[in-house]
Amino acid sequence: ARAWSLTSRPEGLPSDEHFALIDLPQRDLAEGEVRIANQWLSVDPYMRGRMNDVKSYTPPFALGKPMEGGAIGTVTESRSERFKPGDAVQHFAGWRDEAVLPESQVQPLPELDVDPQAFLGQLGMPGMTAYFGLLEVAQAKEGDTVFVSAAAGAVGSTVVQIAKAKGCHVIGSAGGAEKCAWVQSLGADAVIDYKSGTPVVKALGEVARNGIDVYFDNVGGDHLDAALAHANLRARFAICGMIDVYNSSKPTELRYLARLIGNRIRIQGFIVSDFTDRAADFYRDMGGWLKEDRLKRHETVIDGLDHMPEAFLGLFSGGNTGKMLVKV
Ligand code: NDP
Repeated sequence: ARAWSLTSRPEGLPSDEHFALIDLPQRDLAEGEVRIANQWLSVDPYMRGRMNDVKSYTPPFALGKPMEGGAIGTVTESRSERFKPGDAVQHFAGWRDEAVLPESQVQPLPELDVDPQAFLGQLGMPGMTAYFGLLEVAQAKEGDTVFVSAAAGAVGSTVVQIAKAKGCHVIGSAGGAEKCAWVQSLGADAVIDYKSGTPVVKALGEVARNGIDVYFDNVGGDHLDAALAHANLRARFAICGMIDVYNSSKPTELRYLARLIGNRIRIQGFIVSDFTDRAADFYRDMGGWLKEDRLKRHETVIDGLDHMPEAFLGLFSGGNTGKMLVKV
């Protein structure tokens, strides 16, 4: 078996030299363990944070050791009562083709009638981030105008659809005409192309004539500033991610920050794991919207473990539409 490991800590955008494929020694299972052939591996923007040696909500990747991340596979061998060969499971020992884990670190896939890889995207961590971030953190409700950045990505494209299902007016932003058209096809009422050359603050002003009530931030930087500039009285900002700054040490300039005061804007960061104990709500609602055909799912699939760093780096150049995945 093989796994990707981090060879050194990148500054700025990582490159191939920061990753190495290492061999994992084959070993027999201990009592209670399972062997899993991984089929789908997740790459996610938060993994960039784990490459830095800093204190955070998840510990840094250890140099020279297998990296970790969401994964879906099939049990091939089991010394656990809970799992048998052939079971489809999810776990966190990603970035590798085979995982050996104690049963406590392995979960069966939820029973919803979807492809298994959906549980790494819309029906997994990114989907939960969209759902709880929009409905709990930002308290989006019918009639609100919701602005969401990185709207063609895994989290953003799910935010767009949940917001539409809840009766909101939705404005997205994405890079390039093709992605913008796709976001519109998901139901967004307007989409701005932040790569078109028009400053985000101006482009947003043109489509958000009545301002915005909710901002779901995936990007930070100019997008956050533009959202502040157009926020209505008592707007709610859910700060989910700031991908614009993950590879950068430049300070963010927020010219409209003082709008927080007069407009009584509430701004709140969150981590999806804050809501783990409410997963049942998420599956119930998402399951319902799936049945009603209100959810469209899209994945960008990179083939082969060998190309995993490429898939990861693609997140920072917009290489994905919908969820970025690696098929082993
Ligand atoms: P995406 O599928 O959205 O992929 C990242 C996308 O970000 C790219 O496709 C690209 O789209 C866009 N992007 C990259 N760089 C920039 C930039 N400099 N400016 C604007 N857009 C950029 O990833 P996820 O859906 O997995 O994650 C989205 C955000 O949510 C991230 O910030 C992530 O860290 C955060 N997150 C937070 C969680 C939490 O618990 N708080 C959990 C999960 C995710 P384009 O082509 O449009 O530029």
